[in-house]
Amino acid sequence: MTARLLEGKIFSAQIKEEAKTGVEEIKKNFGITPSLAVIIVGENPASKVYVRNKHKTCEELGIKSIVVEMSEHSTKEELIEKIDELNADKSINGILVQLPLPNEIKSHEEEILNRIDPLKDVDGFHPYNVGKLVTGSPTLVPCTPAGCLKMLDLAGIEIDGKRAVIIGRSNIVGKPMLHLLMSRHATVTVCHSHTKNLPEVTREADILVAAMGKPKFVTAEMIKPNAVVIDVGINRIAPKKLVGDVDFESAIEIASAITPVPGGVGLLTVAMLMQNVIKAAKLQLNI
Ligand code: NAD
Repeated sequence: MTARLLEGKIFSAQIKEEAKTGVEEIKKNFGITPSLAVIIVGENPASKVYVRNKHKTCEELGIKSIVVEMSEHSTKEELIEKIDELNADKSINGILVQLPLPNEIKSHEEEILNRIDPLKDVDGFHPYNVGKLVTGSPTLVPCTPAGCLKMLDLAGIEIDGKRAVIIGRSNIVGKPMLHLLMSRHATVTVCHSHTKNLPEVTREADILVAAMGKPKFVTAEMIKPNAVVIDVGINRIAPKKLVGDVDFESAIEIASAITPVPGGVGLLTVAMLMQNVIKAAKLQLNI
């Protein structure tokens, strides 16, 4: 049996459509256009592609998009000043600082990100939003794990009562995924680089989320027959070849559903960002 393919383009189109309706409602009922400001510091080519993509998607959905380009040699103070300016600007609903930051200011990343007004923090990285996620209050949630959850819902995959295993405990993917799945009544185990007997744990999973950044690490032997496999990993193994953390060719034979790489979770992240801009606008409007 071959698994059902969970294609990112299908779910991201649905998520974007919902966001577009949200934009239209806010415009009609409150007379404002939801807006996103993305700050990019330096010339990292991959970051430029990501930022362009976010800008394009905003335009597609009728969200106002501002890209603030800052020099590679910007200081922490200059960046914080820009964030303060955007925090105070009532016409801006969402603020995002594109990562990674240049080496010169990388060590200040936490301080810089924490400067963003939590109600405008569309990446969901601010401790205020992390705390709300942990306590189960509605809040701005990191886009990649939020996109994975949304995809499960749109695909009609049940979460309640299921055993879920996440490989990876990062603040961006693994940890928020834990809280999202737990809030939906899954029994969740988080594995990481110190986990002993990893295959034994992953073989328990009805829903397996791989977010470790290790190409094709998760093989069929690590997957329970008929599990749902979500591959968050994006690994460049050659100039034009991306693979996930899951060995797709063997996994597809044992899973009941699986996301491909490329063409899977990656597409959901930008789509969820658009929903976060709407959510942020609503939080600011107190609705
Ligand atoms: P990270 O490097 O911050 O975290 C990796 C995690 O994997 C760590 O918690 C580590 O303990 C765990 N890990 C590493 N080796 C392991 C092993 N052998 N066994 C068990 N656990 C192990 O990475 P991240 O930022 O969470 O990203 C993970 C992957 O997801 C990367 O490939 C990244 O490119 C990708 N990613 C994709 C998107 C997207 O939009 N699709 C977004 C964010 C990250």
